[in-house]
Amino acid sequence: MRWLILLAALLALLLVGWAFMQKRPQDLPWTTLDLAQPIGLFTGRKLAALTGDPRTCRALLDQAGIAYSAMLPGGEGHCAFRDSVRLKPMPEAVALSPASVAPSCPVAAALKLWEWHVVQPAAQRLLGQSVRTVAHFGSYSCRRMYGRDSGDFSEHATADAIDIAGFVLEDGRRISVVNDWSGEGKNAAFLRTVRDGACGLFSTVLSPDYNAAHRDHFHLDQAERGATGWRACR
Ligand SMILES: [Zn+2]
Repeated sequence: MRWLILLAALLALLLVGWAFMQKRPQDLPWTTLDLAQPIGLFTGRKLAALTGDPRTCRALLDQAGIAYSAMLPGGEGHCAFRDSVRLKPMPEAVALSPASVAPSCPVAAALKLWEWHVVQPAAQRLLGQSVRTVAHFGSYSCRRMYGRDSGDFSEHATADAIDIAGFVLEDGRRISVVNDWSGEGKNAAFLRTVRDGACGLFSTVLSPDYNAAHRDHFHLDQAERGATGWRACR
């Protein structure tokens, strides 16, 4: 009798697990990433794990209908980049300004998910309109952290990061990190919401809350720190 109960319990558990997987595969660590799914518990880690795997990452962009040009590898040593992509302008999509930026594929993929699931919903809810342009300070830059002469190289050195300066709305209004971060208004609420939302998509998110070096931008990167790797959200 006891083993029958045990068997029934096991079957029930399997059934619940199966149902869960069907409904929210993005919340499970072993399912394949699909950019069409909503953001789940493991979406950020799966995106970071695409570092060094341009073929899988680009296949995901293709599958999601994201237009891009694959860049040729370039740079050397600590500053070699291997999987940069330039997102192409698409109707209805947010434009990056300047448009010439080519971040790593995992950063580009996360930017699209951020746009779809975080930035535009927050803009609609808090500001009553869409974002038209995301202004940034660039991605690739062969430098060490904080531009120092020694120490670790920045994720920017491999184009695995992007610095977001602000947003232009449909009506032309600008919201910038440097001018609108502080305060209680809707613009500040919008910036905090999109910063928080980025944390589920990027390994590292640094905002003015972190330090003065980030008073005018959000640093977003996809540093791959392995299974036990920490994630920064400040
Ligand atoms: Zn940065």
